[in-house]
Amino acid sequence: MSHTPHYDEKIKTILDFTKPGERVCELTGQKWEMTEEEISWYRKFQVPPVTTISPVMRRKILFGFNSGIHIWWNKHARTGEPILSYVHPANPIPVIPDQEWFSDDFEINISQEIDISKSFFDQIRSFVFKIPIPALRTYGTSKNTIGVATISAEDCFMTIGAKKSKRCAYTVLPLNCEDVYDSFFIEACSSGFGLCQSERLYQCVYAIRCKDCLGCSFVFDCRNCEYCFLSANLRNRKYVFLNEQLSKEAYEAKMREIDLSSWSRFIFYKKQFFEFLQIQAIWPENFNFSCTDCTGEYLSNCVRCHECFTFSDGTDCFYCQWGFGGAQESAFSSGLSGSSRCYSSAGNISSSDLRFCNTSNTSHELEYCYNCVNCEYCFGCVGLKQKRFCILNKPYCEEEYWQKVDELKCAMLERGEYGLFFPADFSPVGFSFATDFFFDWTQEELECLHVPFFDPKQGTILPRKKGEDLNTQINSEEIPDCLEMIDPSIYISKPIYDPIIDRKYAVLPADLTFYQMMHLPFPKEHFLRRIREIARLSNSMIMTSYFCELCKTSLRVAENLIIKQRKIYCQKCYLNYLEKEG
Ligand SMILES: [Zn+2]
Repeated sequence: MSHTPHYDEKIKTILDFTKPGERVCELTGQKWEMTEEEISWYRKFQVPPVTTISPVMRRKILFGFNSGIHIWWNKHARTGEPILSYVHPANPIPVIPDQEWFSDDFEINISQEIDISKSFFDQIRSFVFKIPIPALRTYGTSKNTIGVATISAEDCFMTIGAKKSKRCAYTVLPLNCEDVYDSFFIEACSSGFGLCQSERLYQCVYAIRCKDCLGCSFVFDCRNCEYCFLSANLRNRKYVFLNEQLSKEAYEAKMREIDLSSWSRFIFYKKQFFEFLQIQAIWPENFNFSCTDCTGEYLSNCVRCHECFTFSDGTDCFYCQWGFGGAQESAFSSGLSGSSRCYSSAGNISSSDLRFCNTSNTSHELEYCYNCVNCEYCFGCVGLKQKRFCILNKPYCEEEYWQKVDELKCAMLERGEYGLFFPADFSPVGFSFATDFFFDWTQEELECLHVPFFDPKQGTILPRKKGEDLNTQINSEEIPDCLEMIDPSIYISKPIYDPIIDRKYAVLPADLTFYQMMHLPFPKEHFLRRIREIARLSNSMIMTSYFCELCKTSLRVAENLIIKQRKIYCQKCYLNYLEKEG
């Protein structure tokens, strides 16, 4: 028997009248076709169809709740002491150190009777702005590390989502990696720089979508290669330069002329590489692997996942992104790890039956919950642990709970609230900071979504010595071109100003050791620019129509934000090409 009979009746009427057809996004003016498939997901979750925001925009909005690539100086919500956090210091969402949040004696003692006649989001907002969240979302297993959502990381700096990794810096999602800098989404790589969507690379520099390579630089889509330079689409090759096979001696002679520890030379080769990716490299229609009946990009071992991105072991998902460790029967969700039946939820681990939740882990049957752990049957709760049958953090007996939820869902549905995700000001990191490595926002979009502005210069992490004047800074253009010319007493741990993004950064002693070991230049760009560039060499989450360069078959491919013009082959032509040229 249904727990919410009044709501069920209302939603049935709405869904019975929902027909497929063209819809227009109120935020962007973009048109989309609401298909039977899309409507079937609304029926499955018994939620109202979203008719005014396009699925692409909904993806972008959910990504606004991602942890982003920024870390700031914020303050401890109780003591006022400075602490590092992925939450911007001007954001009213309070933070406390992770260990305190996760400790057994940390209890949330705020609750309230819900007023069904008033705006639900206004009522939960006062909880979101009052109840602290963990400052860095780390689970206490990392050592000497500054990062967000790290698990078992050691000596890492500015890493996001690092797992079992050592001495990695300025990197997003390194898994089982050591000594890797400026990279995005990599597994089992060591001594690497500028790696993107790659696995098992050793001593590689600027390698995009490569596997099992050693000593290669500026390479794309290479497998099992050694000592190759500025090349693409190679298989089991050695000493290839600009896709031309050389002898060992000829290759080594050429490489002796190349000095990547000079910033200007490094930039020169990077530019050549980007041109190579545009003109010469062959891009497959997608990088999906071992998938059945799937659409999207970077899918592996997935079945019936449609319009999904960066997903592994997923089954029956629709418009989802960033799913690891298996995600099932979910729609319009982002950041699902081992979770099932999630709808319009972001950042949920080992959970099931969630609707409109943000960062709710090992939980079941929650709606509109925010940062809850080990909870069941809760609606509109914030920061709870091990609770059942709560609304606005107030516990009810089971019968009363369902009665209230039924009334509340009916009232929210009538006000047009039920079916929408949390408002933009609930994003911990701040919308634009959460998405900026994949999406750009227009000022108009940000205004439409009422995104609060946070000054990116406030709370920047820089080394601070007592009495040091942070206004004295080095201009990035003044840095010597060659690594050898760097005097550590002048350039290490000092504020360096990058005029392009109007932000300061510092290069740390460990960074210099890494650049020396790898013969790489001293960076003249803020690390955010570097991370963003490497992340954007991945294909984006926006699909577009294309034609196979050879056979002219029409294709749907994920756009690349940096390499806009590319030679894309359909799967058949791509495999033929590899057989002949790879
Ligand atoms: Zn073709």
